[in-house]
Amino acid sequence: MTCTTHHHACDCREAEHAAEIARLMAALDTAALALRDAAISVIDWGTYASDYFQKKHGLASDIARIQAAHLAAIDAARSKT
Ligand SMILES: [Zn+2]
Repeated sequence: MTCTTHHHACDCREAEHAAEIARLMAALDTAALALRDAAISVIDWGTYASDYFQKKHGLASDIARIQAAHLAAIDAARSKT
């Protein structure tokens, strides 16, 4: 790929880096959506378990962990430069 920012002989790979950032941002968006859906699924299905098993296996902390990962992915996607 030829640099479109500098002269034609430039070897800064700026365009490649921009393409790589775009690819990673798309992957991050996909991961954020998957984490949101995972949190919804865990909430939906986890609450079928009795209170005893919800507490024994830490359902609330599992949900909180997935939701925190979802928010972290959104924050990372927003902080792109
Ligand atoms: Zn360049």
